[in-house]
Amino acid sequence: MKPSFFIKTFGCQQNIADSQRIASYYLARGYQEAKSIKSASEVVINTCMIRQSAEDRVTGLVKNIVKSAKGRSKIIITGCMVGMATRDDTGNYLRTLRKRMPEVDEFLPLEEVGFDYPALRNDVTHAWVPISNGCNNFCTFCVVPFTRGREISRPFKDIINEIKELASKGCKEVTLLGQNVNSYGSDIISSKFNPSSTESRRGREVQSSKFYKLPDGRKVKPVMVKHLGRLRIPTLFPYLLEEVCKIRGIETVKFISSNPWDFSDELIKVIAQNPKIDRNLHLAVQSGDNEILKKMNRWYSREEYLDLLKRIRANVPDAQISTDIIVGFPQETKEQFQNTVKLAKKANFAYAYVAKYSQRPNTAASKAFPDDVPYAEKERRFHILDQLINHKGILRTAVH
Ligand code: SF4
Repeated sequence: MKPSFFIKTFGCQQNIADSQRIASYYLARGYQEAKSIKSASEVVINTCMIRQSAEDRVTGLVKNIVKSAKGRSKIIITGCMVGMATRDDTGNYLRTLRKRMPEVDEFLPLEEVGFDYPALRNDVTHAWVPISNGCNNFCTFCVVPFTRGREISRPFKDIINEIKELASKGCKEVTLLGQNVNSYGSDIISSKFNPSSTESRRGREVQSSKFYKLPDGRKVKPVMVKHLGRLRIPTLFPYLLEEVCKIRGIETVKFISSNPWDFSDELIKVIAQNPKIDRNLHLAVQSGDNEILKKMNRWYSREEYLDLLKRIRANVPDAQISTDIIVGFPQETKEQFQNTVKLAKKANFAYAYVAKYSQRPNTAASKAFPDDVPYAEKERRFHILDQLINHKGILRTAVH
């Protein structure tokens, strides 16, 4: 009998997309997909580290597998936890993982799987399509740059070819995935063509910042995203979005996650001109207080964020904006929280993922600030925002 595998995925859509490639990697090695954890000869757990509770769920699952399995299935851990361990030169995090889960047989870095395996998708009509991996932004609360590393964009041509292939098999809707989709391509376009650059040495596509040659041969100027009047990054995302919309058979195009500070006017124009692009736009604000935003290393002020929403709504009148907010960031005072409440009232969000701050290893916030907002206070702030945005409720508790 063929050996079998079962993949349990925690976390975001990017992890779901990674699991689809891991499945294909296993099939290529002669395994078959098991129907349940219990019947699998190998269990792969694709992990998430966004909050401590996500890590705790992984540890709990490993203990349960060991307890309930009759025969011993091999347990393999991959995803964010392994990404963190791979990038931690001290080896401390890997030691922590081994100590916490001695039952684990193998820690599999996602880099070993790579992008060469086509995703194994069960849904024919919709596909998650990764366009980049990693992040260069280092928001002080976020573990992603430590788990996934620096941003690497997939070649433009590969993405278009993959979506054309999906469309030919009946796919109607794609969601383009990346930690910061609207900076897509900034690593492809080096500021000057530099044959000795790391990207070039790796044999990856690198082009001059002046023009970019699209797969159809057209030469276009990369979109220059500015911050405080200065060039922040060049990006190809508006072009990629336009090209995906042109693919016959694709009816809806979505994208996540996109950051407010790289959301250019060119991108707004592309959305306005392409009815295939979904009008539900997700733009994480995280806080409505300028001092907290600075401590978070977010590249905008509350005023700039509100101005961006205004420009989006002026050009895309049917846009529905959703967001992410963190409550109880270190040293967040009641007044600073109030500024987030005020922003939420002005922004008229369709919905929000409100999260209680959770200190994450290696992040700048964990090193610089004490996690000093009591849990009960985080809970209180969570409920206020959740009621206000997600239930459009009349607040029963006083907001202060
Ligand atoms: S941009 Fe997003 S993924 Fe990148 S560090 Fe900030 S929160 Fe994390």
